[in-house]
Amino acid sequence: MHDILPADMPAWNQLEDAYRALAESYGYRQIRTPIVEKTALFARSIGEVTDIVEKEMYSFEDRNGDSLSLRPENTASVVRAGMQAGLLHDQQQRLWYCGPMFRHERPQKGRYRQFHQLGAETFGIAGADIEAELILLAARFWQRLGLDAIELQINSLGSSRCRHQFRTVLVEYFRDHYQALDEDSQRRLETNPLRILDSKNVEMQSMIEAAPTLQDSLDQESRDHFSELTDILDQASVSYQVNRRLVRGLDYYCHTVFEWVTDTLGAQGTVCGGGRYDGLVEQLGGKPNYAAGFSMGCERLIAMLHDQGKADKESGCDVYLLMRGDNSVARAQQIAESIRDQMPGLELVVHAGGGSFKSQMRKADKSGARIALILGESEIEAGTVAVKFLRDDRAQAEISQSDVVTQLASLLD
Ligand code: ATP
Ligand code: MG
Repeated sequence: MHDILPADMPAWNQLEDAYRALAESYGYRQIRTPIVEKTALFARSIGEVTDIVEKEMYSFEDRNGDSLSLRPENTASVVRAGMQAGLLHDQQQRLWYCGPMFRHERPQKGRYRQFHQLGAETFGIAGADIEAELILLAARFWQRLGLDAIELQINSLGSSRCRHQFRTVLVEYFRDHYQALDEDSQRRLETNPLRILDSKNVEMQSMIEAAPTLQDSLDQESRDHFSELTDILDQASVSYQVNRRLVRGLDYYCHTVFEWVTDTLGAQGTVCGGGRYDGLVEQLGGKPNYAAGFSMGCERLIAMLHDQGKADKESGCDVYLLMRGDNSVARAQQIAESIRDQMPGLELVVHAGGGSFKSQMRKADKSGARIALILGESEIEAGTVAVKFLRDDRAQAEISQSDVVTQLASLLD
């Protein structure tokens, strides 16, 4: 789990501000749910027999003896909240979220125990059109951020009936290759065989490559759904790769699944994953409902912003106001407040803590300010403020206190 320090913040704000503006521009509304939920919520949604629920959740008993967990992802919470607030039944919803998630994974580059996701969830919309919209939104996000080298992979898992059929075929195949399965996969063979396809175990990869694909089990309706999606993407000139091996880690997907991946981040190359998850609402006790969404990993996107030289950096303040002599402090604060009244966007730091003129100037320089304003007893008497240009080769100037805002604005222009 990492601290996000002041120097890191510009890139975080850049990412979050861009996402907020974009999601709102597509008509998505923000939702915030608690960090902590009942453990049962995740066991019922993500699935008991998953890495997340079996090994990765931070779970604990509270003082009442209830089992609670830090959320490992946000979809289940959004569904729970939507159900409780009556947002889901018989209506369409477009929602977005942003916040920390927790998984007890082995920490490595791009994989942390507290990490952050930006996401979107939609409810009540059955068609491939909404899946396409989610993909277009993500594509526009990369474009707004100026990020290259993110590729789209899509697949269809088909209806739940297709999935069921495929499961039978798959179990047969894996039974024939039982010895090649690792311990987790052997255990999952009966409970959750699709998950085996998602295994990251390198030794199993060639056996997984050779496994039957879902494609042959897809019925006509599932094929039509998928080609409606690819038609929209084609017409929008969004390029994609159909990856028949893509199943996504979570249990509740059907029909379309997609991932945005990059080869610039090493092993942790997925920056966004999503798809359709009809069935989850009902699984969590609601009326059957259509649902589709995605979530993206902030840390991985920020790493890409840095790698590609697109990350915002700390800019320092605009103006640093310092004083000559202790008697100037109150007047300096007063002038600063009147500047702030009229220039709310200006970053103005007023020196605090006293010290020699020389040490105040050093702090002014370190602050990144372009201009130092200096107020001493002689300036107070004359009704002026001295101006020193910290970045430009310009002679020191004087401006009048009564007109400080106008003159400062023109100096900063
Ligand atoms: P991965 O295959 O990388 O483990 P996942 O399938 O577990 O990802 P999701 O649950 O779909 O991931 O989460 C969506 C996104 O959140 C991922 O694509 C990734 O960018 C990010 N993410 C997931 N787990 C972590 C983590 N431990 N640290 C940082 N980012 C993560
Ligand atoms: Mg994972």
